[in-house]
Amino acid sequence: MPEGDVVHLTAKRLGLALDGRVLTRSDFRVPAHATADLTGRAVLETRSRGKHLLTRVEGGLTVHTHLRMEGSWRISRPGRGTPPGDVVRLLLANEEWQATGVRLGMVDLLPTGHEARVVGHLGPDLLGADWDPGEAVRRLSAVPETTIGEALLDQRNLAGIGTIYRAETLFLAGLWPWRPVGAVEDLDKVVRIAQRLLHANKERPNRVTTGDARPGRDTWVYGRAGRACLRCGNRISRGEMGRGPQERLIVWCRHCQPERVTG
Ligand SMILES: [Zn+2]
Repeated sequence: MPEGDVVHLTAKRLGLALDGRVLTRSDFRVPAHATADLTGRAVLETRSRGKHLLTRVEGGLTVHTHLRMEGSWRISRPGRGTPPGDVVRLLLANEEWQATGVRLGMVDLLPTGHEARVVGHLGPDLLGADWDPGEAVRRLSAVPETTIGEALLDQRNLAGIGTIYRAETLFLAGLWPWRPVGAVEDLDKVVRIAQRLLHANKERPNRVTTGDARPGRDTWVYGRAGRACLRCGNRISRGEMGRGPQERLIVWCRHCQPERVTG
């Protein structure tokens, strides 16, 4: 599932292909915007905001897309077909490049001045130029009885974390995922760890949270349920928490992230 780092890198790639160039083709394959045509307009800039992508186009329009579970943007030379079975939701092309949005979870076209409607609810963006850790901590603290695991995934608190960075951040912070936010002593530290992990991975396709890129050693707990913890050797646990069919997976080490803190 794409998280903030992947979306950030996607925005960068889209920007390199589209920004500053005039669209020679636009093809919205979603009912709400099936007749929209951006041909002849220049793309001004492409930005990520949490897990959202905003492509701003001449004439005060913004193409808003979200990768959700399995979406991706592919960059190719114009006129290239897509493999059969690919569900293309949006195609944007100029004379040099074609950007194909496959299995996008959301495709929307709105006035740039109305972007707040779709991203205004988001907390500080972990990879944004305006990242504000104090504000993220303030928002996390607002509902102290929420579990830290659910609070980190709530994009209204801070934007960019999915199940992978949630698991890795909680491991590095030594926190049991179900601990209430109000009982977490150092939220500042938690937020710093999450931001450091996303930053370290924002330019690279293969995610590494351990500093060791070898397969099976590139994450502390995510993808390692049932295997030995890289730190203590105990078996990594797997469970579910919170709501939403896709966002429930949680993996953690019972030894490194104890339910009860002693000493
Ligand atoms: Zn452990």
